[in-house]
Amino acid sequence: MSSQSDIAAAAALLREHPRILVACHESPDGDALGSLIGVGRSLQDAGWDVAFWAPGDAPLPADYLWLGLADVARPPPADASERVLLAVDCGSAERLGADGAATVAGAVASLNLDHHGDNTRFAGVNLVDAASPCATILVLSLLRELGLPISLEVAEALYVGVVTDTGRFMYANATAESHRVAAELIELGVDPAEIFRRIYEGKPAARVELMARILSSLELRLDGRLAVAYVTIADLDATNAGEADSEGVIDFLRSIEGVEVAALVRAPRSGEGKVHKCSLRSAQPEIDVARIAHVGGGGGHTLAAGFTVDGSAADAVMLIEREMTRA
Ligand code: 5GP
Ligand code: MN
Repeated sequence: MSSQSDIAAAAALLREHPRILVACHESPDGDALGSLIGVGRSLQDAGWDVAFWAPGDAPLPADYLWLGLADVARPPPADASERVLLAVDCGSAERLGADGAATVAGAVASLNLDHHGDNTRFAGVNLVDAASPCATILVLSLLRELGLPISLEVAEALYVGVVTDTGRFMYANATAESHRVAAELIELGVDPAEIFRRIYEGKPAARVELMARILSSLELRLDGRLAVAYVTIADLDATNAGEADSEGVIDFLRSIEGVEVAALVRAPRSGEGKVHKCSLRSAQPEIDVARIAHVGGGGGHTLAAGFTVDGSAADAVMLIEREMTRA
């Protein structure tokens, strides 16, 4: 649980340091990129020297390019060690990629702004609140503590985190607070229909073709309690789609009657088929998919988590089945 003192400590650290490296997790989603741009642009507008970093080399998701990601570096910038590292939406230093822990250790100081229940508190200052519906709501608290104005560009970025992490205000974290913050951001000029159009509409046909291929691989296992689907390199090649284009498909798996856990097993381009990334979603609050992800070396939230296996897609499924059938 974050407290007012965590927010004050985070603000104090930023006030003391004019040079910041803001970073989000690998394979960033809307909350990660909304937090990255929201906090980074706001500090930049107020005079901080801000560098942006999104670890990994897979293309950034096209749904969020309109946030203005042109100056987001992929390898960390050369002067990373001269800056305070501000990690957003990262449950652990490893979420910053293979060099994440080293980059945190090498920074002038580090600040961890996150809402994952399994956050490892890896930084010097940890602004962590598992009760926060999304990381961008924590960013908003921090910007308010710093007394910074919220421009329309920043408000839109923060709104993206609220909309995407709450499943468009439909998940358990779509609390009164999520709606209140959304209302505040709308009062600052955010147009929900316009944001919806930018994120969810105008998709290339390849995206829907990829979805069709993924859904046709559906397997119902453990008497229908586990729904699994697969993304192969062949699927990406055949549809000319990118790795990030499978986002959202997992919601269809979870929606099937009787399904308790939905899993989407993806072969990343860089893994040559030996590494598989697995996204997990729980259909019931009492089933904690973060626990399963932890066994696989990953993590996340109770209802949405993920892990990477150094093995085949079948290895990933075996691990999930084993954990789901554990007495
Ligand atoms: P997604 O399935 O959308 O990629 O991720 C769902 C949730 O699980 C997010 O909160 C994300 O941060 C977390 N997550 C996904 N993959 C990993 C992973 O490999 N390690 C950890 N620690 N968390 C992950
Ligand atoms: Mn998040």
